[in-house]
Amino acid sequence: MKILVINTGSSSIKYELFDMEQHQVMASGMAEKIGEDTSLLTYRKTLPDGEPLEKVEEAVILDHRKGMNRIVEFLIDPEHGAIRDRDEISAVGHRVVHGGETFRTTTVIDEAVIAAIRENIPLAPLHNPANLIGIEIAGSVFPNALQVAVFDTAFHQTLPMKAFLYAIPFEMYEKEKVRRYGFHGTSHAYVAERAADYMGCPLAELNLITIHLGNGASMAAIRKGKSVDTTMGMTPLAGLVMGTRSGDVDPALPFFLADHLGMSLKDIEALLNKESGLKGICGTNDMRDVIKEMEAGDDRAKIALDIYAYRIKKYIGAYFAVLGRVDVVVFTAGIGENAPYIRKLCCRGLGGFGMEIDPERNTKAGNGIREISFLNSKVKILVIPTNEELRIAQETKAAVEPPFPGA
Ligand code: AMP
Repeated sequence: MKILVINTGSSSIKYELFDMEQHQVMASGMAEKIGEDTSLLTYRKTLPDGEPLEKVEEAVILDHRKGMNRIVEFLIDPEHGAIRDRDEISAVGHRVVHGGETFRTTTVIDEAVIAAIRENIPLAPLHNPANLIGIEIAGSVFPNALQVAVFDTAFHQTLPMKAFLYAIPFEMYEKEKVRRYGFHGTSHAYVAERAADYMGCPLAELNLITIHLGNGASMAAIRKGKSVDTTMGMTPLAGLVMGTRSGDVDPALPFFLADHLGMSLKDIEALLNKESGLKGICGTNDMRDVIKEMEAGDDRAKIALDIYAYRIKKYIGAYFAVLGRVDVVVFTAGIGENAPYIRKLCCRGLGGFGMEIDPERNTKAGNGIREISFLNSKVKILVIPTNEELRIAQETKAAVEPPFPGA
């Protein structure tokens, strides 16, 4: 079975084609800067002799439909294409950012599903419209493939009310669906499952804290395989300090900025989403640069890293209290997988919780799953590379291929 995973943004389409039987990525790439003067198309695949092939093309791509058509041309190109015919693709798995309370699981798309994703646009005004464009175009470009929606929010739909409800008038929840939703669900779910495989233990018996530290960052408290709390909220602005997002601040801060500085709501939104986080404190949002500047003696970079790690450590403590017993703590995504300094800061002084990071294992480079706690640490600390696209492909396959009773 061949599954195409699509992640449509406002000016981009990321794609990855999987052969599910061979457990192989057949091709991947991106159309970006769609609608701008010059757009960029990337196509990657591995040639039969094992050599990687990468084509990068500058082009004018006026809209998403043209972008998708160009991607298909790459995929079925007689010389370097990954497939002969678009009908070889059985299903297209779409990353959809916000499923609201409507979607608790991955869902095969029909008209009712499209309508429900549309209804959730107020909760994700930038993302859901782009995701809908991707669904609409993929439906016409791959008329014989099933379309499947995989929601960033779905994994966290198991949060109990005490964890998802804000202490504001209840009607805001009842009428406007204002509540904590949480995001990065595919990543938290993927690494939790990989952790269970690694531990040789059913996920349903494990308690975990998963820490996704990429450009966006979030944590989840997972009890017996189910998410019971998470740091992001109704939007991805809440919780941890991120590259350019503030994470948690006093909810009264916007009133102060408006009253004393005359800032508009739009300005405040941009300040908290695009000018804050690491960038706000030390001027750069790329963790590699922040660490380099700290090593070169920059005080602002040092305090930015301290604040970043302190927030994570505070939530680790909170989630120990939530879960009662923690078996595994997982670090994942760009920073979680590659920044031992950050992992060390986050775990420092947590021996009292039975969480003991081994400095030597923590700094040892490697691919795949790595155990970075001391052998006798009560809580295992793991580094697990995330793979959101693979998880979307796996969920898509499961959705279109229900196990038949007795099969
Ligand atoms: P992601 O969103 O998962 O792609 O992660 C992006 C973040 O990972 C950026 O802040 C990068 O600076 C960071 N990152 C990637 N590689 C490294 C590395 N070797 N050391 C520290 N941070 C890294």
